[in-house]
Amino acid sequence: MTCADCLKNLGALVDEELPSGEIARIEEHLANCTECAAAHQQLLDTSARLKGGLMRYKTPDVLKARIRASLTEPQREERPRPMVLHATGSERRWMRPLAAAAMIAIVSSGLTFAAMRDRAPANAVQSEVLASHIRSLIPGHLTDVASNDQHNVKPWFNGRVNLSPDVPRLDSLGFPLVGGRVDYIDGHNVATIVYTRRQHVINVFVWPSTDRSNTSPEVSSANGYNIIHVRRRGEEIWLASDLNLAELSTFSALVIPRD
Ligand SMILES: [Zn+2]
Repeated sequence: MTCADCLKNLGALVDEELPSGEIARIEEHLANCTECAAAHQQLLDTSARLKGGLMRYKTPDVLKARIRASLTEPQREERPRPMVLHATGSERRWMRPLAAAAMIAIVSSGLTFAAMRDRAPANAVQSEVLASHIRSLIPGHLTDVASNDQHNVKPWFNGRVNLSPDVPRLDSLGFPLVGGRVDYIDGHNVATIVYTRRQHVINVFVWPSTDRSNTSPEVSSANGYNIIHVRRRGEEIWLASDLNLAELSTFSALVIPRD
């Protein structure tokens, strides 16, 4: 294994997405390569540091039991339906496991959001962001405009939302643009820009804020999803994904405008 191959797979290793044979090959390389081992350790350290600062919402045990019970109940047989998505072959590959994950998330999310409201009423906006993220994972709901070209996505928002969001192209950095859509969060039409990292979807939600003050990125986690919120230049910006925090943080530094 080359260092390039190893480095390319470190994120997937941290997210436990690799087959065991591949894990063994990478671990063997890490044991013998100090540079790759240092990069791996840095990824772990960054994730751990970010996790240390995040707000976490615990699911009560009773709720967990109810979710488990609902998931093990016999499912009605369903005929497979065609994907209603303008996706290329490579996009379809990650949409299939995603569809299954979305179904599980939907089963549990309604219950869990209710629990979060009880526990943390101040985080209503975070709940709406998370609900929009989960809804977007249902096949056909990810994008209203599907394009990997920012020159198609950015102008599409004209007249649909009350701002002109930044839509940087980040393919070369491993975060391909997939498209955009309009969501409704906290009483606003929200510009949502969609990126991916491997099979992970990253939604970037942006809407105008009446508060002109900037904030530092605030990291939180719920239902296995990581969420980053920041206010910059009069815009509320939220990121949601199940991507590991280290890579989501790298991504946030690329898309969030500087002070
Ligand atoms: Zn190496």
